[in-house]
Order: sequence, then C-alpha cells, then structure tokens
Amino acid sequence: MENKRDILKNRVVPLDLYRITPRTNCGECGHPTCLAFATQAVVGESTLDACPHMDPGALQPLRERLERQLGHGIGKKRESFEKTLEFLRAQVAPWVTPSNASALGADFSLLEGAVAAMRLPYLDDAVLVTAEDVVSLRERALSPWEKIFLYNYVIGGAVEPSGRWVGMESLPNSVSKIKSLKAHCEEPLAKAFPDDQDALRRAASGLFREVRGGEGEADWIGECTLLPKVHLRLLWWAGEAEEGFPARVKFLFDARVLETLDLESLLFACEQISERLLESQRR
Ligand code: SF4
Repeated sequence: MENKRDILKNRVVPLDLYRITPRTNCGECGHPTCLAFATQAVVGESTLDACPHMDPGALQPLRERLERQLGHGIGKKRESFEKTLEFLRAQVAPWVTPSNASALGADFSLLEGAVAAMRLPYLDDAVLVTAEDVVSLRERALSPWEKIFLYNYVIGGAVEPSGRWVGMESLPNSVSKIKSLKAHCEEPLAKAFPDDQDALRRAASGLFREVRGGEGEADWIGECTLLPKVHLRLLWWAGEAEEGFPARVKFLFDARVLETLDLESLLFACEQISERLLESQRR
C-alpha cells in the first residue's frame, strides 16, 4: 500500500494539471487563467470539475492521485505552497517585460546582473517581482500565498476595471466564498466598529481613501487599491443600539474583477485587509 512518503514523492503539482488544460484562459472555472486554476486546484481550493475542458482520460489518474494527497493532508501545508511557488517562478520570466509591466500598472527595471524586475504597487506597499522571488519594498515578510497571488497577477494579466461595483454574490460561482467573506471579514468588522465612524476612518487611513456619494447610502465608503487594476470598496452602516440595529459592513468589487483575480485570491485579500483594520482598532 502507498504510504504518505510515496504520495508526497508522486504528488500532483500545478504543472501536471496545467498541461492538460487547453490553456485558453476562458475563465469558466472562476479563475482568470488556466495557470491560476492549476495552482488553486492542487491545494484543494478549486474543484477539478470547475474546468469542463480537460480530457477526462488524462484527468482521471490525476484526480485519483490528488484526492489521495489531499486526503493525507498534503495540500494546504507550507510545502505545497512552496511547490506551487517553485512552479510559478519557473513560468514568470517571459512575463517580466516592459510591455507587460505597463499593461499591469507596474514599472519595469533591470537590476544588478541584468535581472529583469517589475515594481508593483500592492496595497500601501510595493513589491519587486523577479523570477527569483517577490519581495516587499517595505521589507515586510510576504507569505507564500501572497507571492502566489502576485505571481498569478503578473502571469495572468489584468483587464481594465469596468467601474461597476458589485457584491460577491453577483460574481459567478461565489456561493461557497460568500459565507467566508461574511464570517471572516464583514461580521468581525461590523462588531469592531459598531457606531464610531471616526474610529473606522482612523483605522482605514493609509489603506482606504474616502468616497463620497457612492452606493447603497452607506454611512461611510472607502476604496482601496489592492493592485493597480484591482480596487475594492468597503461600505459601512453605523449600528443603532437603541433601535436594535447592529452595524453592517459590505465589500464591493469591480464587476470584471474575476477576469484579473480568482475568487480565492479576492477572499484572501479581503481577509488581509480586514485583519489590518481590526489590528489598528485593537491598538
Ligand atoms: S475553465 Fe479554467 S482551466 Fe479550464 S480552460 Fe477555462 S480558464 Fe482554463
């Protein structure tokens, strides 16, 4: 019988899946590119059935191996992310170019030793993306997950935002993520900022700029730039204790955002942003 070590050694890596996708980046799976789909599926964040375009004969043996490895907990652990990162590092070089940098809202430069690099604004930081690594210019430690999502942005490309704001429920295939967004982001924020708009303003300064006259007649609306072509909005309605109405918080996204980032990355970004706001509130 196959033991965990054998399974680890023969684990399915993103390249195995990527090879059997048609590489058309059609987006039907909820990921902007086949590459993003492959990197998410190997860590169990996307179901293999999300892509209807893979050859069933080629997929079946991979499906069985992937089920076994995820069943053994080989998936979301750090080493799996490292494997995915290794794969993305090997793919990224052709995309670190002046023309791609300009299409992504980044700057291109040649570092010492003629290493091609892209300087990419990322929240209130900026990162330097090379085929070697992704590093924060503020010397913040980036998690493997952040690096994967930044590499996916560089490789997958970005579309211009439509300017139309929608809730996650309006994005395709988002049912499973809506609950997480509420539980991990919107509800904790509503609890942390029940009625004090100034407290929210202070916590949000640096990450969000205030928007006046936006959607939903919210009491406060902030917009933040996650990446040059990806913006998020946070809507806040103050609670009214006497009336028994709790505060309410909602994230909004551009209607075309899934053509640039996948849902899992969006959720991850909302969690990071929420954590930053909650941290400022605790201080
Ligand atoms: S559904 Fe996803 S993985 Fe399949 S071809 Fe389209 S983008 Fe690629």
